[in-house]
Amino acid sequence: MEKICKIMKKCGGCNMLDKPYDKTIEIKKQNVLDCLKNENINTHIDNVIKASNPYEYRNKMIVAFKYENGKVISGFYEEGSHNIVDMDSCIMHTPLQNKIFNLIKNKVKRLRISIYDEYRRRGLLRYVLIREAINTNQILVTFVTSEEMFPGRKELIKDLKAIKEVRTIVQNINNRQTSIVLGEKEKVLYGPGYIEDMLCGLKFRITSKSFYQVNTVQAEKLYNEVVKYSDFSKSDAIIDAYSGIGTIGMIMSSHVKNVISVENNKQAVKAAIEASRINNISNCRFYTADATEFMKDIDTIDAVIMDPPRSGSTVEFLESLIRLSPKKIIYVSCGPDTLARDLKVLLKKYKISHISIVDMFCFTKHIETVVCLENKNITLNNDKG
Ligand code: SAH
Repeated sequence: MEKICKIMKKCGGCNMLDKPYDKTIEIKKQNVLDCLKNENINTHIDNVIKASNPYEYRNKMIVAFKYENGKVISGFYEEGSHNIVDMDSCIMHTPLQNKIFNLIKNKVKRLRISIYDEYRRRGLLRYVLIREAINTNQILVTFVTSEEMFPGRKELIKDLKAIKEVRTIVQNINNRQTSIVLGEKEKVLYGPGYIEDMLCGLKFRITSKSFYQVNTVQAEKLYNEVVKYSDFSKSDAIIDAYSGIGTIGMIMSSHVKNVISVENNKQAVKAAIEASRINNISNCRFYTADATEFMKDIDTIDAVIMDPPRSGSTVEFLESLIRLSPKKIIYVSCGPDTLARDLKVLLKKYKISHISIVDMFCFTKHIETVVCLENKNITLNNDKG
């Protein structure tokens, strides 16, 4: 059953919402194949992993506020601008997140809470961030304010606490003139300041600033796909490059001897180390470094999993892979064009054994691709027996 969104055109967040879901998948699949073809890679996609529910999938909602003729306007920004598109609810978020959003919106109006005006640089409330741990049913609410004094907060907390899923409420203070939502300083108003979610059997702590995949259900399917095609052994040492909060490496850790994770964002590495401690994982090491530089110092490795940002990897990183010659490389990509560009380099020594696409951002143009590459030399040796 296709759903209709009244503000689709204005909001622009889901630009394929006017098409049937299966059609969006077909378009995305073709786009991946076209990008590969542009680099003369003629192949096929083995596995298409759709969402069983392509709506209500987002676990994080950030809304802005303003007053207009005494009315509270609240919702997302129009794409590429700071115009707020007023909404009652968003079909890409869960009913629980929408309920909390509406409660806050009504309460802001009733309590006449001051709202920040970014042009005049006056007023208090800037944004509300709602995060939901989908597998454990826990909610974190963060109020982003321009200053610490927060009149009305007691009433807001009281009403939010009445919703049993709300585990923690945080105030984030952002007094800078910036379009970055969150400021440095935070005050926990209620609960522990974080929520916990389970992902592929591992526990993760989510704060207002944590990195966490936006579509929990599809993220699990993506990671399971990596596990399925990795087929590593207990004697393997592997690298998880561009590791974020270390998710993939930690999921792989029980299947291999040890994991070396590399990521250039300090906070993400800190979160990864914390997660490994919470989950009693002792065979993962986490390094804060540029992945390209890091690879230059590696002598030997059995397999590599890489999940670079949309801009892809670098030629030097790929050359390091060719030099190291691991038996398998699994490339997880959110940018089909850069994936194709990078694969072209790797295909000197590797052959594609499997490609899956996973629809993580339903009804947007984005798609995740998992490519499993096997070392041609090693396969050849095996063939010879
Ligand atoms: N594998 C992770 C997320 C990958 S997103 C997961 O499954 O959650 C890509 C990551 O690459 C981001 O965390 C980003 O901070 C990191 N990154 C970007 N450029 C990098 C570089 N040059 N070296 C190391 N990490 C980098």
